[in-house]
Amino acid sequence: MVLAQLGGSISRAIQQMSNATIIDEKVLNECLNEITRALLQSDVQFKLVRDMQTNIKKIVNLDDLAAGHNKRKIIQQAIFNELCKMLDPGKPSFTPKKGKTSVVMFVGLQGSGKTTTCTKYAYYHQKNGWKPALVCADTFRAGAFDQLKQNATKAKIPFYGSYMESDPVKIAAEGVERFKKENCDLIIVDTSGRHKQEAALFEEMRQVSEATKPDLVIFVMDSSIGQAAFDQAQAFKQSVAVGAVIVTKMDGHAKGGGALSAVAATKSPVIFIGTGEHMDEFEVFDVKPFVSRLLGMGDWSGFMDKIHEVVPMDQQPELLQKLSEGNFTLRIMYEQFQNILKMGPIGQVFSMLPGFSAELMPKGREKESQAKIKRYMTMMDSMTNEELDSPNPKLMNESRMMRIARGSGRHIREVMEMMEEYKRLAKIWGKMKGLKIPKKGEMSALSRNMNA
Ligand code: GDP
Repeated sequence: MVLAQLGGSISRAIQQMSNATIIDEKVLNECLNEITRALLQSDVQFKLVRDMQTNIKKIVNLDDLAAGHNKRKIIQQAIFNELCKMLDPGKPSFTPKKGKTSVVMFVGLQGSGKTTTCTKYAYYHQKNGWKPALVCADTFRAGAFDQLKQNATKAKIPFYGSYMESDPVKIAAEGVERFKKENCDLIIVDTSGRHKQEAALFEEMRQVSEATKPDLVIFVMDSSIGQAAFDQAQAFKQSVAVGAVIVTKMDGHAKGGGALSAVAATKSPVIFIGTGEHMDEFEVFDVKPFVSRLLGMGDWSGFMDKIHEVVPMDQQPELLQKLSEGNFTLRIMYEQFQNILKMGPIGQVFSMLPGFSAELMPKGREKESQAKIKRYMTMMDSMTNEELDSPNPKLMNESRMMRIARGSGRHIREVMEMMEEYKRLAKIWGKMKGLKIPKKGEMSALSRNMNA
């Protein structure tokens, strides 16, 4: 996703500032201007960006910072906090409770991914033990009911709709009524969208809302709508009580900054993001890990929790030791590939790291990726111990690569490609150098440090 570029630009700006010998007003301004440019290019609303800049300057008052203060850290932390603040409206959305009936109404423009997202939302909860149901109150778009029906059938989720009835309010009320009687705990109402915001759409939404009394209204927004996000989100918020946002198509080429603007416009948090057309391409959205990843800091708190959760106790020290040394050898890569293929505990941990999962094993192409990993492993089988254990990629000169290619019956081009992959992963691994091995209870302190 293009948000990664935004993250890249921001972390580069911070890095450049860190390279400066003295951090004065000029250096700070340059850094902030760079960040401002990156945010604007990513379609974040102008006013938000300006406010952020002002806030950081207020927090980081260079004159007041006594010598000895780590200015870089303070600035970096301020940027991190401000980005989090942009995405976090300060109050959580209503959260439905399992076993207790909640009505959740979805609104958004046509094509935003609303119908798809309703099913994803239902499916996600169903997998977690809920009893969801879908109501199609979209009588405007021909085929909307068929689409919902098809998706719901595939996921084995009960649904309600009508080919004959043209009054969406009536259908919505009947559907909700029926599923309440059936003791469903999550009744999801899909409403109609239009190509553009118009009075009729908003009036219809208001009526459906009045008839179904939703506990939560979710605004679904296509991440590619750019600068229009703020106005669009605000228009919806003014008509119905939007309580949460879901941003779709984060897998595409969208700049994604619109998501930040939508949060500001609705004062509601983003709760999930859509990352593909498939039912399970849907992720819970958490602000802090997201911003950490955006700034290239990795999701440290989640990562450490995962290590403690899934890696057997006796293997934890060894893994953490290797991580803290930061030397990523081909042998470690080989072992990690073995784990990923088995999807054993360590494989699960590594699948959380940016780069290990998204690029090495993109969703939907698992088979291809597995074949690639197996190919790499065959090539590594032709390596000597010295090659496998050396942390220096320069050791792998052309004649060694030729020998490996011959030995494994592969083309040298493929060996070179594998070495490129190795270097890329080594870079990610290297970021963990110096990782302190936390004792129980030290986890939050560690993630604070890593995020600072
Ligand atoms: P609606 O008119 O708002 O109900 O939109 P639909 O649910 O019909 O979705 C419009 C199109 O967007 C469909 O082709 C969906 O498959 C696609 N879509 C929805 N969510 C996502 C997503 O997260 N990623 C991608 N790539 N496509 C999506």
